Amino acid sequence: MKRLFETDREFAKRLDAEDPLFKIRDHFYITEGELYMDGNSLGLCSKDAERGLLEAFDVWKHEGIKIWGTQNGRFFNYSRRIAEKLAPLLNADSDEIAIMGSITSNIHQALATFYKPTTTKYKIVVDALNFPTDIYATKSIIELLGYRVDETLITIQSEDGRTLDVETIIGTFKEDVALVLLPAVLYRSAQLLDLKKITDAAHEKGIIIGWDLAHSIGAVPHDFKAAKPDFAVWCSYKYLNGGPGAVAGLYINRKHFGISAGLKGWFGNQDDTQFLLSHDFEQDHDANGLLLGTPHILSMAPLDAMLDLFNVIGMDAIREKSLNITAYLMSLVDSKLTALGYTIGNPRADHQRGGHVCLEHPEGYRISLALRDLNIIPDYREPNVIRLAPVALYVSYEEVYHLVEILEKIIIEKIYESYSLKRVTVL
Ligand SMILES: *Cc1c(COP(=O)(O)O)cnc(C)c1O
Repeated sequence: MKRLFETDREFAKRLDAEDPLFKIRDHFYITEGELYMDGNSLGLCSKDAERGLLEAFDVWKHEGIKIWGTQNGRFFNYSRRIAEKLAPLLNADSDEIAIMGSITSNIHQALATFYKPTTTKYKIVVDALNFPTDIYATKSIIELLGYRVDETLITIQSEDGRTLDVETIIGTFKEDVALVLLPAVLYRSAQLLDLKKITDAAHEKGIIIGWDLAHSIGAVPHDFKAAKPDFAVWCSYKYLNGGPGAVAGLYINRKHFGISAGLKGWFGNQDDTQFLLSHDFEQDHDANGLLLGTPHILSMAPLDAMLDLFNVIGMDAIREKSLNITAYLMSLVDSKLTALGYTIGNPRADHQRGGHVCLEHPEGYRISLALRDLNIIPDYREPNVIRLAPVALYVSYEEVYHLVEILEKIIIEKIYESYSLKRVTVL
């Protein structure tokens, strides 16, 4: 979509005045004088999340062990309760969703469940740009089953080091491939892949396909009833603002209901026989059969409350603002920053980009250090990427205007030169 933006501060103020989500900012704890552009790593804390956490804490405080039975078993069945609220974000059925674990442990569970290599169909396709933990988990299942990684893993390469070509991806789907694991939005370049097209291509070859939604859930609406992937995983601490280490999620398509869980645990047992404590596992028929142990109530409660806010607003409104505010940021980069060595590394078309802008600069590392000292929180990814996420729920257009002013100043006044190139941990 072509959008026309002007380059002065007054225009930014006008965009804020017209923004239907502007008031949602008030739900969040925004530090006075600080501009938070890192919601794609850790979403900001909201009053909703705080209220949700304190309510659950209060039940524990007053009820002790009775917490499991209060409110009609709400906490005992917490995965199901939260899945109902999460389902609209994926356009999936709630019984296809389990709220559990972390992305890493859920990939382990999904691969242990779905990877069924045979002598002729045993390869796994991943991509060279995915986040390391996805690859570590994939390599570990290959090794656990006694295969060799160099003979089993196929890695889709990127021509430009930023993005993946859809035809190249599909070209790797040969008869000997058993399973594919890909990110919906690439964590560095924000490229959004065509889930339906790629999933259809995998299924044509009888391949199981799973998606990592880490950088898409809560930023990009999904339509799983149309795309029909076999499985998906995501975390809840990025765009969902569920809190640091919040409990993650696992989706399995209902056509796989009844599949034997690769990893089994007592919360995957059917509810009515779970407390018979038999050593014979009776797996729940749906996604909940993949659950492992006792639900992490205190790190699910903030997510529970946040999802109420998502459902009031709706993913379409969130995506609309996200696309507009990232387009605004890109237009200011084009008009004010390209002459200073900044370039945009994400795809430009709306249907090919997620919720953040991938800003590149040869001095990206030192610029990101300078940004921090000027009260702007970006995040940095090697080798030269400053990731900027103007999250729809709490970033304003005027803040984006201010960000670009600072990015300009850091180069013009050579502020970055006073920083060391030596890398320190976690940015
Ligand atoms: C953030 C992220 C992770 C993090 O995994 P955890 O198990 O939640 O720590 C994994 N994969 C991708 C693609 C990510 O962006």
